[in-house]
Amino acid sequence: MERVDLELINRFGELIKTSTKFIVIVPHMNPDGDAMGSILGLWRVLKNSGLKVKMVSPTKYPEFYHWMDGHDEVIIFSHHPKQSARAFDESDLMICMDFNQLSRLGEMKSLVENFKGKKVLIDHHPYPGNFTDLVISDVTCSSTAELIFSILQATEFAPFIDRNAATSFFTGIMTDTGSFDFNVSDPRTFEAVAQLTRMGIDQLDIHSKVYDNYSADRMRLLGFCLSNRMTVYPEYHAASMYITLEDQKAFNFITGDNEGFVNMPLSIKGIVFSALFTEKDKYIKASFRSKGEFAVNEVSEKYFNGGGHRNAAGGEFYSSLHETLIQFENLLPEFEEKIKQSVK
Ligand code: 5GP
Ligand code: MN
Repeated sequence: MERVDLELINRFGELIKTSTKFIVIVPHMNPDGDAMGSILGLWRVLKNSGLKVKMVSPTKYPEFYHWMDGHDEVIIFSHHPKQSARAFDESDLMICMDFNQLSRLGEMKSLVENFKGKKVLIDHHPYPGNFTDLVISDVTCSSTAELIFSILQATEFAPFIDRNAATSFFTGIMTDTGSFDFNVSDPRTFEAVAQLTRMGIDQLDIHSKVYDNYSADRMRLLGFCLSNRMTVYPEYHAASMYITLEDQKAFNFITGDNEGFVNMPLSIKGIVFSALFTEKDKYIKASFRSKGEFAVNEVSEKYFNGGGHRNAAGGEFYSSLHETLIQFENLLPEFEEKIKQSVK
């Protein structure tokens, strides 16, 4: 079964074919594996078909994605604002991937908002925004990478999906499902993976490049946080963890080093709700994960200026770490009943 209405797919194909200038592809800020996999996979396919394509990311991406095909072609707006602006000027079609609100672009928002050409959004987050001419959104899809892969298969670009593109799409699916640990109740996700496997991808190598690529410092930071920065609230089936700026300095923190921390408390028996608070210069970055029906995007939207999916959400809190932790403890009673319904 098609994930997306064929009419939408055809309109998407038409927009690509009528582009005569560059096509610019855009992920959300601090792109994760799904955002990277989606833009790089689509970039590779369109490039293989002979089109002129550019990619512009609002900010840099973690080093454990620096092996991906085409990653060094991505223009980083925060480092190269002029070159980024030129890429938008030279394009007549923009494809936004893996985000649903302009606020997810940070300081690059105005460039995207003021883009003169046609705009497309391809995404799997709830409540897709209304800032593009065409929206292809499927909230039941594991990842944007799976979505764009299934879209491309239904277009005349299908023959241009090569092993490199397949590797990027697999990376997106793998990372957005926590290595097939969540968001995988739909058999179509595994069907997509089977097709990607037939295209010759090396899953073990991809997994290793993403997950076995950390520094010893990062491993020690994880151990430190589990020992000294984690609080368990057994009565609420919840746990929280935090990382101060000082901790980051002590363990030579680099972008992406806290990846996966928020999932760890979910392996404690009885814990279905986990939060991680990472101190930044001007705000606290919040990450939430849950098991089952309990929707952490509700928590994130209501209290942390954020959003996301039912089981994985995030946001930003403009206060001190101390205040953030108090805010978290105070909201637990409100969600107690809903959390308990998720406990098996
Ligand atoms: P993470 O905890 O890995 O940073 O983010 C998990 C998910 O939450 C992301 O895939 C994204 O959907 C969402 N998310 C993270 N940070 C934000 C944010 O600041 N705003 C919104 N709206 N969503 C976020
Ligand atoms: Mn995603």
